[in-house]
Parts: sequence; C-alpha cells; structure tokens
Amino acid sequence: MKKYVFSFGDGKADGSGSMRELLGGKGANLAEMTAIGLPVPAGFTLTTEVCTEFYRNNRHYPDGLVEQVKEGLGKVEAQMGKTFGDPTQPLLVSVRSGSRASMPGMMDTVLNLGLNDQTVQGVIDQSGDPRFAYDSYRRFIQMYSNVVLDLESAKLEHILEQMKEDKGVHLDTELSAADLKQLVSLFKKKVQEELGQGFPEDPEEQLWGAIGAVFDSWMNPRAITYRKLNDIPADWGTAVNVQSMVFGNMGDDCATGVAFTRDPSTGENYFYGEYLVNAQGEDVVAGIRTPQPINKAKHKPGDLPAMEDVMPDCYAQLVGIRDILEKHYRDMQDIEFTIETGKLYMLQTRTGKRTAHAAIHIATEMVQEGLISEKEAVLRIDPNQLDQLLHPSLDPKAEKQVIAKGLPASPGAASGKVVFNADEAEEMARLKNKVILVRVETSPEDIHGMHAAQGILTARGGMTSHAAVVARGMGKCCVAGCGELKIDYEKQQLTTKSGQVIKRGEIITLDGSAGEVILGDVPKVQPEVSGDFAILMAWVDKFRRLKVRTNADTPHDSRVAREFGAEGIGLCRTEHMFFEGERIQAVREMILADDLEGRKKALAKIMPMQKGDFKGIFREMKGLPVTIRLLDPPLHEFLPQTDDDVAELAAVAGVKFSEVREHVEALHEFNPMLGHRGCRLGITYPEVYDMQVQAIMEAACELVKEEGFEIVPEIMIPLVCHVNELRILRENAVQVAEEVCNRFGVRVDYLIGTMIELPRAALMADKIAREADFFSFGTNDLTQTTYGLSRDDAGHFLPDYVERGVFKKDPFVALDRAGVGQLVRMGTEKGRQTRPDLKVGICGEHGGEPSSVVFCHEIGLDYVSCSPYRVPIARLAAAHAALQEG
Ligand code: ADP
Ligand code: MG
Ligand code: MG
Repeated sequence: MKKYVFSFGDGKADGSGSMRELLGGKGANLAEMTAIGLPVPAGFTLTTEVCTEFYRNNRHYPDGLVEQVKEGLGKVEAQMGKTFGDPTQPLLVSVRSGSRASMPGMMDTVLNLGLNDQTVQGVIDQSGDPRFAYDSYRRFIQMYSNVVLDLESAKLEHILEQMKEDKGVHLDTELSAADLKQLVSLFKKKVQEELGQGFPEDPEEQLWGAIGAVFDSWMNPRAITYRKLNDIPADWGTAVNVQSMVFGNMGDDCATGVAFTRDPSTGENYFYGEYLVNAQGEDVVAGIRTPQPINKAKHKPGDLPAMEDVMPDCYAQLVGIRDILEKHYRDMQDIEFTIETGKLYMLQTRTGKRTAHAAIHIATEMVQEGLISEKEAVLRIDPNQLDQLLHPSLDPKAEKQVIAKGLPASPGAASGKVVFNADEAEEMARLKNKVILVRVETSPEDIHGMHAAQGILTARGGMTSHAAVVARGMGKCCVAGCGELKIDYEKQQLTTKSGQVIKRGEIITLDGSAGEVILGDVPKVQPEVSGDFAILMAWVDKFRRLKVRTNADTPHDSRVAREFGAEGIGLCRTEHMFFEGERIQAVREMILADDLEGRKKALAKIMPMQKGDFKGIFREMKGLPVTIRLLDPPLHEFLPQTDDDVAELAAVAGVKFSEVREHVEALHEFNPMLGHRGCRLGITYPEVYDMQVQAIMEAACELVKEEGFEIVPEIMIPLVCHVNELRILRENAVQVAEEVCNRFGVRVDYLIGTMIELPRAALMADKIAREADFFSFGTNDLTQTTYGLSRDDAGHFLPDYVERGVFKKDPFVALDRAGVGQLVRMGTEKGRQTRPDLKVGICGEHGGEPSSVVFCHEIGLDYVSCSPYRVPIARLAAAHAALQEG
C-alpha cells in the first residue's frame, strides 16, 4: 500500500525537510523542525499525491487513505492524551494547506476543528475557561462556514460586529463567555438559514469536509492567479496538514506571532517580528488589532510593549530557536509561533520572502559569517528580483509635500494615479496608466491589482500584513498601516489628517523606504551600485563565462551601462541619432533629394554629427568593443505625416507642399516591417551606408590619434537574407574604411558583420559567414519573422494566447527555445562551421531576460546584449547558467 500519510510529533517524523515535493513546504518543515527537537504540536501530512489523485479520479480519494488518516489521528491522540470527538478529553486540530512552493494566504486553513456542543463542554472542563472554549468554538464556525461551506464571511462577521456594538465594546477580547456562547448559536442559526442545512456536528464529517476544502482551494481563482504570476505548475498539488491545536487565545499568558529571523526589508541581522497577546492564528496579520513588536531593538515611542518585556522566558526561548533554525536552514526564515499558557510552540518555518536589497545583504553577510559559500550566495539571488534594486528612488533634493506617514513596508519609490480597487488598477494599467492601489487593507483577492500597480498604499496592517509581504515579494514599493488616512471606497477618495482630499485619478508618490505618501509626481534618482551589490557582482563575474554587453545609442547610456558592468556595446542604433534636433531636417533633405548629388549634399551635413556621436560613445567605452548597426528603419519613418508638418517641411526645404506630400506617399509601404529597410536601403542608396562607415572610421581614427587607446569598431549590417547582400555591402564598407585609414595615416582594425534576424539568414548561416566577422542575433525581428507575428500588433491577441495556454509565455519576452531558439542554435553552428572564430551574440530584448540568457550560455554564444539597466540581471543570470551546469 502506498504511503499517503506522514506523521510527526514527539521528536520523531516519518518525513523530512527534503521531501517538499511530497509533503509540501509546510509539511516538510514541520517534519524537519520536529526531528531537530523543536516544540511542534503533533500531527500528520496528507501528501500532494493525494491531491493529484483526487483531481485525476474525479474528486475521489485513493484507496487506503481513510485508514491511514485514522492511524495518523490515533498517533496524535496517543501523544496528546486526548481523543478526537471525545466529550470529556476532546482533541482539536487544525487542517492546513501547504504546497511545494510557498503561496502565502492563497489557500485555506481551518482551526479548532472537532468542536461541537458536546466537545465544547470537555474543553471547558479541561481548561476551566468557558470564555476561551466559546471563543474557539465561534472562530471554528466562522472559518469552517467560510472555507468548507462556502458561506460569505461577511454574513457571520456582521453578527459579530453587531454583538460588539450591542455590548458597547471594540475588541473581540472584550466579549464575555456568555456573549460568545450566544454568538455560537446565532452563527449556527444563520448557517441553517443561509444554506438550508445545519452546521455539521460530527467531528469526523468536519475533518473530511475540511480536508476536501483544502484540496479544493488548490483550484480557487486566487490560487490559480498566484500560480500564474509565479510560474507554479497546477499539477504540483497541495498537501494537507492535520495538526493538534495549541491555543494562543487562552488568556494573557498566551499569544500568537510571526517573525523573520532577519529584517526582510533591509536584510539587517536582527530578529524582526510581531505578536499579539490572547489571540489566535491569523489575528496578527489580519489587522484586527495592532500587533506588538517582539523586541525593543527598534522600539519607537508609542510602540506597544515588546514580548521581550512581557514574556521574557518565551522570548529567550524563541531567540534560541531562531539561532537553531538559521544554522540549520542556512537562510533567513519566516516563522509562526504560538504561546499556550507560557509554553512556546513552533507552527511553521519557511524561507522568508525578502526585498532584493535584503536578499543581497543577507547573502553577502552569510558568506562573511561562514554560513554559505560565494557560489550559494550568487545562486540565492533571483536575477529577476534585481530589477527592483536597479530602479529609481526619490531624489533627495526634490521638493516634496508629505501628506501622510505609514510603515515603510516595501522599499523603492513610485508615482501614479490613485485607484481604490484591484480590477480598476488592472484595467487602468492595461491602458498604460501608472497607478497606485489604495486599500484599507489588501487580501489575496487583490493580487492582480497589486501586480498591475506601481505601488500599494494601505490604511491598516503591519509590516507582516498581506500587503507588505506580497509587495516585497513582487518588488513593489508599499506603504502600509497608514492609519491617519481615511479611505472612502464609496466616494472614491482618501482624506488626510489635515483634511486634504485626494480623489481617484489624482497623482501621488509613495516612498516605500520612508513610509511616506507624497502629493504629485516627485522626481527620482538612479540607484547606487556599490556596497553589498558590488561585492556580490564581483562573485558573479568570477563564475560566469558569457559576456554581457549593452544596447546603447548615446554616450549617456553607454556610461550608465559601464557603471552597471557592461563589457561593450552589442547594439548601437544609428537611426536614433537621425531624429535629434536639427538633424532630422538634413535627413529629410536627403530623403527628398531627387538625385545622387542632392543626397550626397545632405549626407555631408549629417556626417560630422554622426562622427561626433560615435566619438562620444567610443570615448565612454574606453576601448571596449562597440557594435554599430547601419541604418535600419524604412525611410518613411523619418518623414512628417500630418499636413501641418508637411507644410512646415515644404517651407523650410523651399519646395511645394504637394511635392513633399507626393514623396511621403511614394514611400508608403503596405508592410514596412518587411519592406524597403535594413541592408536593402544600403543596396539602393550605397551613399547612405558609405557616409555612416566614414563617420565611424573617422571617429575611431581621430580618437586613436587624440587619446591613443585602441578601438576596433564593429560595423553591423542589418536584415541580411542572402550572402550577396553582405558581399556587396562589405566591399563598399571596406573601401571606405581603407580610404579613411589611409587619409588619417593610422591603422584601425575593424570588423564587419551582420545581424541574423530573418529565418533564411539562419538557414544559410554557413554561406553568410564567409562574408561576416561576427553574427548578432536580432531576436526581436527573428521572433516576428519566425512566428509571422508582428510585435506591434500582437498586443491585441497575444494575451489571449497566453491566457488560454496556446503559448506558455509571450515569445517576445522569453526567447522561444524550441522554435526561434533552434534557429539561433543552428545559425551559430553553421556560422562556426565556416568560420570557427566567429563571434556570436544576441541583441534583442531577450538579452536581458534571465531564462533566455541561460539558453544563450547553453548554446555557446559569446555574449548577450541588453538595455543598460538590465546588465546586472544578465550578468547574474549568466553566472547562474554557469554554476548550474555543474
Ligand atoms: P497559511 O499558509 O495561510 O499561513 P497556516 O496553515 O499557516 O496558513 O495557518 C494559519 C494560521 O493558523 C497560522 O497563523 C498558524 O500559526 C495558525 N495555526 C495553524 N495550525 C495551528 C495549530 N495547530 N495550533 C494553533 N494555531 C495554528
Ligand atoms: Mg496565513
Ligand atoms: Mg502560515
């Protein structure tokens, strides 16, 4: 018989921490904590295989499960000296979800299960505390009705609120035993009324109801969304943990709390956590009462008493456990604990989510502490997460009008239009608006809106609230617990302490590092790349083989990229230079010219300007390789489109309006993407490319003379599909380049290569390589032309494709290994057959996307090239690729 149930308790566990696939993260770690001697309430785990079989067999459990659960329950009963469903010594349990990947708050949990009108009497007799017994009972009915019976939680919540109002109290803890007892019967009546069936009294039925509901919760919409956002496959399934209850709600020597072994926001090595006296389960994160800090290290005036002072013995024990867990797991942990009448229990540990900043600080510090190796430190940082760090923060010199202060829940800065619900945030973001999602508090139903927003602002909840945890995981800035703001969903506005009203659609800025809410759009500054970041990146560079270049068109971008560690320019697009200032006029003159003479005259005006640009870039790159692509877009893009602009150009050029109009129309193409562009322009108008090559070579020759460093310009010819194109254009370029060298009397070596961005070029790469010193795969165009899919038009339907699972991912974001990737691999192999020393790189957007970078490493490219801000991400992804190779 297959083993579906794994027990833990009393220092022994059937499972272990390495069995997360089978036991889920929570179950595996409960087993592990038990085995290393930590105080964990006894329980057992139903494996993820049960979940998979449950869905496969039309929601039937596998044979033998019922017996194994009975056996597991028996062991817990024996250890606790209590019996499930027994009216005198009743065992109560929690039923908890827990999948392989952590999905905080996405699935359901039921606490205090096993209570009914008989067993509650047993709990009263055992504890001598009717208030506690009925508090647990009413909590159980609330959770069970919502999670298992699918009753809207507001229905019972409303009765509770009503009761508090009637009794004139604010907090649940102020209700008496009699009040709570009455609440239980009111709840049951409501359940009967709403669902037409009584609340289940049979503990056995309760247990299987809860187990079924946890398995069902794997497929609830918010879990599905979360999995989609985090790339978690649906077939992993969840495990179910059934565990003996311990009670944090039994009086003032009881408590429940959550903590991080290090600060999840900054990574600082200090024990960070919050707790609540006389409370249970989710009370701390739900924002019902304001949680208290566990220690005084960061105490601020006005903070509530710390656990360190209130429960010194338990706190000391907790600190001991913190050290054990960190040494054992060798990583920062996120823990849940409960104190029952002065005794501490551990209910969960998992690798803590953290900001990118914290991740780097923790990784580098743990290397210094000797806890992990440099390799492990590098592998611990998710390349995608770095993006967070490489983004701007508020300019310290900027004027700012702070309108409210809350908790600095997730760092970074963001500005956007205020919106008050998640659907609207998503919709406005889709229309390219930047939005700030403002909620009283967030819940798992809001994640799609949080994902779409630039930042999140909540009025309630602490540093471990849902909004804070999820925002940090997403790398979004978040200000939480901003209690001084009045948020009015009805009126769609928020009001500050001073009475200022901000309406939906108005712009605010959040500073998640300072916890500030600021009026309007505040200027931001670029990130620092020193300190821990520099230490980590030095290790990264030690381990990677793939080089990382940047796509940069200006000296400024080149400098930024070099600061981020770029080892050259993989793509410098010359057309951007054509648009600037006065130049566009000369470019238009060139296009409008009727003959070669006219064009040459206009080109002569452009040449010195291009030369200046190239000199600026070469100077910034200090001898690192620079690949310059010759003119690529269709000429039509440079001409004015509106009548007003046409008229203006006609006036300046001294020609008739109609003449310009005709020219514009003549250049119109039905499918410009596949039209007269790239090297096809070079074939028709060789003088354009000649001018560009001259500008490149003169810039290089002058710099070599002026500054004396070595430059090897790489001249790149775009959109080649036939070797003959390249042969002709190469001959022209060589002729111009040699002429320049001779004229300057210096020898500047140069390379002439091509972009591979058409399927035919990849297929014919062995032939093309005869004329090319290097290849650069332009994977944006190559993806468009391989799929026959226009990137500019795909936005309308591509989301449906991803939604419906036709494509797993957007191929313009992550390189399609199977199709486009095959062309890249083949093109590289064929090219190197002809020319073994052929330099090969890629320069599409994919060059900065981690999974694509890994692919480029695997197929042996020399470099990837990406936008300046993604250079560190690509460096890290390249190191991961090399380290994972083994
Ligand atoms: P989640 O995955 O959403 O964190 P959990 O299964 O961890 O859900 O449970 C939710 C809350 O209930 C946690 O705060 C946990 O500490 C509490 N809890 C779970 N099981 C028990 C138990 N056996 N005794 C006391 N509290 C429990
Ligand atoms: Mg929870
Ligand atoms: Mg938990």
